[in-house]
Amino acid sequence: MESTLVIIKPDGLKKSLTGNILTRLSETKLRIIGAKVLRVSRELAEKHYAHLKDKPFFGDVVKYITGELHGKQYARVMALVYHGKDAISKVRQLAGTTNPEEAEPTSIRGQYGRLTTNGLFENVLHCSANAKEAEQEIKLWFQPDELVDPIYKTKDVEEKTQKRVWA
Ligand code: ADP
Repeated sequence: MESTLVIIKPDGLKKSLTGNILTRLSETKLRIIGAKVLRVSRELAEKHYAHLKDKPFFGDVVKYITGELHGKQYARVMALVYHGKDAISKVRQLAGTTNPEEAEPTSIRGQYGRLTTNGLFENVLHCSANAKEAEQEIKLWFQPDELVDPIYKTKDVEEKTQKRVWA
């Protein structure tokens, strides 16, 4: 059994593709064990894309996922964790290759992605590439209590923090 992180990026939300993408992903028959909508901080974006730090498009890819390229009201993503047999390859297969112009036309990126005029691949979703990255990414984007199944080992720590509650 595997788990994989899926992020519907700001262009996916702006183009109102959330439903279409979730419908395509439901073809995999995998189980959703975590889901949330969030604004991505620069810090989270830089950690998520740390492996691309030396690429010329690093700055753009960080701006892309934080929503800086799509307008303030679309500065959000939907993050999901899918779990099940061969989850990583099943989702990658449906998503299509990174470059939407080269992606299989019926894949999600083939159907909905585009190449921007400055050469960035706007490919509407992120999905983990392998088991090691999936674990790193899921632990970066989700806290243990945000997942309905305990997929990784956890520990209890004492913490004194302020938190926001309903007034
Ligand atoms: P993936 O998202 O398929 O795992 P990467 O982690 O290599 O691929 O890249 C992260 C994101 O950076 C891609 O989804 C895409 O938006 C962008 N990207 C990757 N490679 C390029 C490239 N050569 N030119 C422009 N944008 C790219």
